Amino acid sequence: MKSFTPSKNPSINLVIQTAFLGDLLLAIPLLIWIKKLNPQLALGLVCRKGLGSTLKSIGIIDYFWEIQKGNSESYRIVQSELKNFEIHFLISAHTSVRTTLLCARIKAVKKISFAKPWNFFIFNHRVDNIKTYPESIRLLSLIKNESSELQEYFSKLNSSEDYILKQNSGRLMSPPHWADPVQGWPASGSINKTVQELTLRYKLVERKWIALFPGSVWATKMWKKEGFIELGQSLQKKGYQIIIMGGSDEKELGGAVAEAIPEALSLCGQTTLLESLALISQSQLVVGNDSSSSHMAAFVGVPVVAIFGPTVLKFGYRPWGQNSAVVELENLSCRPCGPHGHKKCPLNHHNCMKQLEAREVLRVVEMML
Ligand code: SF4
Repeated sequence: MKSFTPSKNPSINLVIQTAFLGDLLLAIPLLIWIKKLNPQLALGLVCRKGLGSTLKSIGIIDYFWEIQKGNSESYRIVQSELKNFEIHFLISAHTSVRTTLLCARIKAVKKISFAKPWNFFIFNHRVDNIKTYPESIRLLSLIKNESSELQEYFSKLNSSEDYILKQNSGRLMSPPHWADPVQGWPASGSINKTVQELTLRYKLVERKWIALFPGSVWATKMWKKEGFIELGQSLQKKGYQIIIMGGSDEKELGGAVAEAIPEALSLCGQTTLLESLALISQSQLVVGNDSSSSHMAAFVGVPVVAIFGPTVLKFGYRPWGQNSAVVELENLSCRPCGPHGHKKCPLNHHNCMKQLEAREVLRVVEMML
């Protein structure tokens, strides 16, 4: 958690997005637009533990407060520290009871969230949650009425469903320029320096690697390990170095995948979030599940192939970048089986991922390369 002792009450806008990393990255167009709307005000973010410092270091936000899910003390501290700020907009990406209660305890000139029958007494500006929008556009709709420019963009968005439909060969339509998260990614000297250090540290062949992310927070969202291995082996034969990436709880999986692919390297749990983004930004391509990896690649402007199993594009959580594609089993009747995936397949066969063959993923990867 971040502590502050401001000398006077600074004025800020505040966004509350306490979901996992992937969801936070989908909120980047919203964060960029809030800064654009009120450049004179600093931007604060309440987010999940471990995510704020990266967004601050690349200049997307100015302040951050981190909460730990299930730890009410962390919410109390955030609430108390925010008393030192004058908050203009408070924008909540969440409508959960816990987040709504936090919003109720924070003073702000204007409180904005999606309309729920029970939250009218907390938020003085409520917006319809349009389910056919992809998530980044849905989040931007929270501030649509604050900008005539945004209103005009939304008025031309008469076919938002196109963004959640696959085009030929799995490719997805690019985000509109005004909602592209890559605007927030700095191609700056410090990022380049980080990449140089990592390239030396891990003896990477410059700009000739492909990053595979076999893990996910949800077990059913993970494509089979053998699939990642077969894909990695095929790509290695084509001359690419394979890097396996993921969190520290994915070390065992990453190690097993890397061990089966010649010259592959597992960096699971070895890089910070900023280092991971920097490395991805120099990859030829990223292949991952419907998880944060695809949103990381989209954010830094790198081609990404996302593998969908229990989830589907119409939920709106596609990789939101210029060069994105999705591979999935089209005609499996049990898909989708829930908005987030499960820890265990409800039907005990997990065919959505087991029946998806490496040659199909390779076909889309080759098209994207
Ligand atoms: S029920 Fe179907 S979609 Fe859901 S995890 Fe199992 S195989 Fe996948």
